[in-house]
Amino acid sequence: MDMCGIVGILGTSKASSELYNGLFAIQHRGQNGAGMYVADGKNTQLEKDKGLIDEVFDQKKLDDLTGKWGLGHVRYPTIGSNIEQDAQPFKIEEPIEMGMVHNGNIVNYKELIDEYDLNLESNCDLELILHVFAEELKKEEEIDSDALFSAAERTMESLNGSYSVITLIPEMGMFVFRDPRGIRPFVFGKRMNLDGTSLALASENTVLDILGYKVLRDVTPGEAMLIKEDRSYQSRQIKNVLPKHCMFEWVYFARTDSTMERINVYEARFRLGRELAKRWRKNEHKLDVVVPVPDTARTYALALAEELDIPYREGLMRNRYVGRTFIMPDETSRETAVKTKLNPIIEEVKGKKVGLVDDSIVRGTTSKKLVNLMKKSGAEEVHFLVGCPPIISPCYYGIDIPTKEELKASKKSVEEIRKDIGADSLTYQTIEGLVTGIAKDKDELCLACLNENYPTKVREDIREYFKEMRKESREKVKEQSKLS
Ligand code: SF4
Repeated sequence: MDMCGIVGILGTSKASSELYNGLFAIQHRGQNGAGMYVADGKNTQLEKDKGLIDEVFDQKKLDDLTGKWGLGHVRYPTIGSNIEQDAQPFKIEEPIEMGMVHNGNIVNYKELIDEYDLNLESNCDLELILHVFAEELKKEEEIDSDALFSAAERTMESLNGSYSVITLIPEMGMFVFRDPRGIRPFVFGKRMNLDGTSLALASENTVLDILGYKVLRDVTPGEAMLIKEDRSYQSRQIKNVLPKHCMFEWVYFARTDSTMERINVYEARFRLGRELAKRWRKNEHKLDVVVPVPDTARTYALALAEELDIPYREGLMRNRYVGRTFIMPDETSRETAVKTKLNPIIEEVKGKKVGLVDDSIVRGTTSKKLVNLMKKSGAEEVHFLVGCPPIISPCYYGIDIPTKEELKASKKSVEEIRKDIGADSLTYQTIEGLVTGIAKDKDELCLACLNENYPTKVREDIREYFKEMRKESREKVKEQSKLS
């Protein structure tokens, strides 16, 4: 069950080098595992392991992966264990050989294992999707394009959750489908080469930009598409419901230079900064300087400073070799990471009333440390401004938001959080400000971690199961880090 990044290439030259560069562009979506599945005619190869993309693949491995078609994946486990066998892609031989990758999270994972009577080798929900799809395909008399679409329709009826799926079927082409609500992003692009046309699919359009592809469009929520060897493609709108795109992709998760559903992330974050300025104006405090918590909040802070006509300063320097603290999988490594990650520029904050801007508050541990860091550096006052409204509930669709018990805003008022983190004031974005900033119809956004209106049914026993799994996986990661 993963927060991930996916790439699929139907190219004219070696897919592995394009996959490597593409996955590198979305390494922020997952740092715990990487893999590729490539096809050269009917010959296929699968290579995957724990680690960053450049740890899993060296030049020799890339050279050995021949084939013009391929799938790639970077993984961050939100729930489930952080072990080698959970890394994607997965492949299956029956009823036809195919490899698969996905980005998202399946809510009814346990139910489907029972319903389809599956014996899986891993805890990864992609293995489940692959088996459900294969089982549905087995019900077809002949495996042709119609069979793929029919099996995808029944698979989509069975799956509850978020999924952007790429399947490579060496004998038929690339078959993709996206959950009816389009919770996770998914784009499709084309490149004309001297030797023909290449097509690519990815979690974020930056992958396509970097590889020289022109983005054709987003894969539509509820759509399935078959791309054939001759690069022609067939598409079917299998489900048609109101989309619920994850707001957190724009707030924090996606690259600042990405564009999803035709909304650029940088532009959205800039508007969110302006909306935050409107909230700030409602209090009586004064600021001398606006300081972002790098990197995501830079855009928010820039817009806020511009809107309030207050100087923008870099008051915290980030060690770029330390991973994102929010998505580090266990408490010990997260605490250590905060200390090693951000260092204050004392000259920019000493004796000043600082407006410290961050994208979100999750557990509040990092916010408290940052306020403390600013005060120790001589800031006269520290006012904390947050680009995302209070996060009060977990995510069941693939973002690693902790349990309700661990979420600062689930139990405490804004004033209590302010006191806890030691700030002189605390200003949150509102849900209305968030929707205006993203510039998408409110009904087309998932806001469930802010208002508990989950876009799919999440039963109480499933919530409990997720809670237990999350605890278990954190314990496992702790145990593993002790052993390594
Ligand atoms: S619950 Fe929150 S993080 Fe999860 S998909 Fe919905 S908006 Fe995104």
